[in-house]
Amino acid sequence: MKNIYNHKRTTKMKKYNFNAGPSKLPAEVMKAVSDACIEFEGSGLSLMEMSHRAKNFQPVLDEAIALFKELLNIPEGYSVLFLGGGASLEFCMVPYNFLEKKAAYLNTGVWAKKAMAEAKNFGETIEVATSADKTFSYIPKGWTIPADADYFHITTNNTIYGTEIKKDIDSPVPLIADMSSDIFSRPIDVSKYAMIYGGAQKNLSMAGVTFVIVKDELLGKVSRTIPTMLDYRTHIKGGSMFNTPPTVPIYCALQTLKWIKANGGVAEMERRAIEKADALYGEIDRNKLFRATVSDPEDRSRMNICFVMNEEYKELEAEFMAFATEKGMVGIKGHRSVGGFRASTYNAVTIEDVNALIACMQEFEKMH
Ligand SMILES: *Cc1c(COP(=O)(O)O)cnc(C)c1O
Repeated sequence: MKNIYNHKRTTKMKKYNFNAGPSKLPAEVMKAVSDACIEFEGSGLSLMEMSHRAKNFQPVLDEAIALFKELLNIPEGYSVLFLGGGASLEFCMVPYNFLEKKAAYLNTGVWAKKAMAEAKNFGETIEVATSADKTFSYIPKGWTIPADADYFHITTNNTIYGTEIKKDIDSPVPLIADMSSDIFSRPIDVSKYAMIYGGAQKNLSMAGVTFVIVKDELLGKVSRTIPTMLDYRTHIKGGSMFNTPPTVPIYCALQTLKWIKANGGVAEMERRAIEKADALYGEIDRNKLFRATVSDPEDRSRMNICFVMNEEYKELEAEFMAFATEKGMVGIKGHRSVGGFRASTYNAVTIEDVNALIACMQEFEKMH
């Protein structure tokens, strides 16, 4: 094949990508995906123009599922699915498949609220606790999960507010977690969950694929009719191939999973996440200009680190943004509901990237 595709990035300046999602991917992953999009495994075809039922695509899906199970140590009895629709479609698929009478939700922010709003269309929905009183800057404590709920839903990492539940909690009822933005950042005890789901575009792949880990025996217990495409059993039976799955995003997920394995697995991802988060929160706490929006270290997200200018330096916000942009920082503007800054430090973001941001904060501090 004529090498007309050998594109190199044209920008001269190194960019430090702290985007919240879609977000930074390892260079090896992007290289493998772009190669496959030009020609897939010597087939003379691009992965984009191949059937998902082609003999050489099935191994991609099989290997992605096998690696998913291996890296997260998923026990027998769980299925791994790759679907479309994003985490947002799961917000309605969860109650469709699990809510018979009553559901319980922990309200830790925008995504949790959106998930809860969908459940309300299907039955009684209890808000077990909320941190809305302080702009979701902490994880509520001391709540009880109603023992008669069909399931309890949590959002383990709150991408917008920078809070995270970093432990696998015990629940007397089936536990369902939106792990869109912290999956593969730490080892998890999957046996404690009935289901885990998320959009892949934060820590696993490019946009376009949703992952679901579901305990098979808990399905089929609701009395309603579930539309075929919204029934998890359809996709388990069809091996994530009931309809055309997003082939390129699945291939991209496979490359990321291989990269995680080659880099020491989820235990090493956690070590790196702690190293990066400690470094950046350390600087925020030390630097006179800045303050973290989440104060309790236990609740601080390792994936989305939110900070604002201290009160007396508030007017420097736009100036710091311009200064950081000039230095190559990308995606550090905080979500509009929180303001200030947010650095997303997903698996592909390196300690060098974080150190570049820290150096930038220190240089700006010296100027003031
Ligand atoms: C990004 C995000 C979502 C929404 O994901 P989509 O794939 O865009 O639907 C849901 N939950 C959390 C925690 C997120 O970070």
